[in-house]
Amino acid sequence: SCGICVEKCPFDAIEIINLPQELDDEPTHRYGENAFSLYGLPVPESGKVTGLLGPNGIGKSTAVKILAGEITPNLGRHEDEPSWDEVVDEYRGTELQDYLEAVRAGDVDVARKPQYVDQIPDQFDGTTRELLERTDERGVLDDLVDRLSIRPVIDQSIDSLSGGELQRVALAATLTRDADFYFVDELTPYLDIGQRVTAARIVRELAEEEDKAVLVVEHDLAVLDLLADSIHVAYGEPSVYGVVTPPKSVRNGINEYLRGYLDNENMRIRPEAITFEEHAPRETSTAETLVSYPDLTKSYGDGEFTLSVDGGDINRNEVLGVVGPNGIGKSTFAQLLAGDLDATSVAGEAGADLDVGLDIAYKPQYVEADQHIRVDAFLSSITDDFGTSYWNTEIGDPLQLDPILEQNLTDLSGGERQRVAIAATLSKDADLYLLDEPSAHLDVEQRVLATRAIRRFAENRETTVMVIDHDIYMIDLVSDRLMVFDGEPAEHGRASTPQPMRSGMNEFLANLDVTFRRDENLGRPRINKPGSQLDKQQKRDGEYYYTT
Ligand code: ADP
Ligand code: ADP
Ligand code: MG
Repeated sequence: SCGICVEKCPFDAIEIINLPQELDDEPTHRYGENAFSLYGLPVPESGKVTGLLGPNGIGKSTAVKILAGEITPNLGRHEDEPSWDEVVDEYRGTELQDYLEAVRAGDVDVARKPQYVDQIPDQFDGTTRELLERTDERGVLDDLVDRLSIRPVIDQSIDSLSGGELQRVALAATLTRDADFYFVDELTPYLDIGQRVTAARIVRELAEEEDKAVLVVEHDLAVLDLLADSIHVAYGEPSVYGVVTPPKSVRNGINEYLRGYLDNENMRIRPEAITFEEHAPRETSTAETLVSYPDLTKSYGDGEFTLSVDGGDINRNEVLGVVGPNGIGKSTFAQLLAGDLDATSVAGEAGADLDVGLDIAYKPQYVEADQHIRVDAFLSSITDDFGTSYWNTEIGDPLQLDPILEQNLTDLSGGERQRVAIAATLSKDADLYLLDEPSAHLDVEQRVLATRAIRRFAENRETTVMVIDHDIYMIDLVSDRLMVFDGEPAEHGRASTPQPMRSGMNEFLANLDVTFRRDENLGRPRINKPGSQLDKQQKRDGEYYYTT
């Protein structure tokens, strides 16, 4: 790359990103001949939270497993695998030398939270309490159980927990261990905004107050901002090779990553910048109603959880955003609309049926992929449009499906499965599309692309979409109006009638006591420090998100 222009190259000169010089050298690890190779490693530091930011499939989990001593790096040699001594020699004189020597000697204590918490129930039979009691080495379990709101599920069996509950239990299990180095492979999947902020604070305290080294892989930039003292950027070509940079300040690291240009390395890592659109909240014009639903309630069991929904309208050709904490009834509402669940009362009448009389395409929150079928065969079975230029432009390209079409559904990573599930749902013929947490497991660029794809789909197809998500930027950009859920998680929830974006965002964020500002460079939403000038000002003005 010529390194002159930081934004899109005006000469279209940069199409292929050249392998950086050091890639002539041996990688840190290669999974096999012609398989994925990783170059470099992040450096955890005592008393600090180190972030690792990069796209999916670039080797972040691989790097974490190497540092955690679970993978012995092979320096790209498969015939004569190097010994640990050779690996340490390779890193002599670098910041990692001491660390790797300690790993070799087997005397670093590490605790790692795995990326895919969904797999924990396959590996552990028993209750939350039984799992956590085995890991409680620091004597802080009670405190973490309360702060992470694990108490209500402490006696539940692990295999009955929701994704967000499993994520918090896995985090507690990792942080209660008495280790020197803590590795958190993605902190936020399935967590709501309040839980993300709490988890970030707990991780920071561990580093600051206990002088521990914490390495966190994370796609939520607002959380990375709150969490990290420095970050390493990982770049390259997903599934082919990945390079981990030396540490950068959080601000520079995030901005360079988004711009697609690394300053110190003088390296272009993406042809275009990822930009965050800032816009005034959408105002709804006079709209035709697609469906009116009456007041509804839904109780589970003997009323352990009750949801009450204020009746309202969903408009034709709108995207309706849905926000609220976990465990408050958002998925329950989607399932009521989809006809997958019976309401307890409809318009005040017990036992009545809710029949909205619509064809609904529904992407559930937890995407299962147990069919042994290739992605292309699966998508062709859903729509005849599969593979047409229309389908590619509107769905296939923005969801980056091309590289995975020949893979089996069962072999996909979390982010790949999510993109296939979104594509499958949008490929159906329906009156209303319900997407439950489409941003989960997607990296920063995939989120931006998926957000645009969903918005364009609604506009071009003149159809109606409901999006439940915790990613505030996605919600802001896709939605015309907002439905806000509030209440006491796992006890009772209340759903407001759909409202304009500005009032909806303010109601939602006031419940959380969190305000956002925009980064002056790239417009990405950032969480204000509680009690800061801006935070106080915005709360006074009652503007928690939109300041324009
Ligand atoms: P990230 O965490 O950045 O998403 P990973 O480290 O999980 O990336 O994976 C990087 C690449 O290495 C991917 O292409 C993945 O398919 C491949 N990979 C991961 N684990 C293995 C393995 N055990 N054997 C072969 N390839 C693997
Ligand atoms: P959200 O989507 O807002 O996270 P859900 O609608 O999934 O919330 O769940 C709301 C509450 O209802 C949670 O406490 C959840 O544990 C409970 N719940 C959900 N489904 C069932 C079910 N089938 N049986 C009993 N309780 C359920
Ligand atoms: Mg990973």
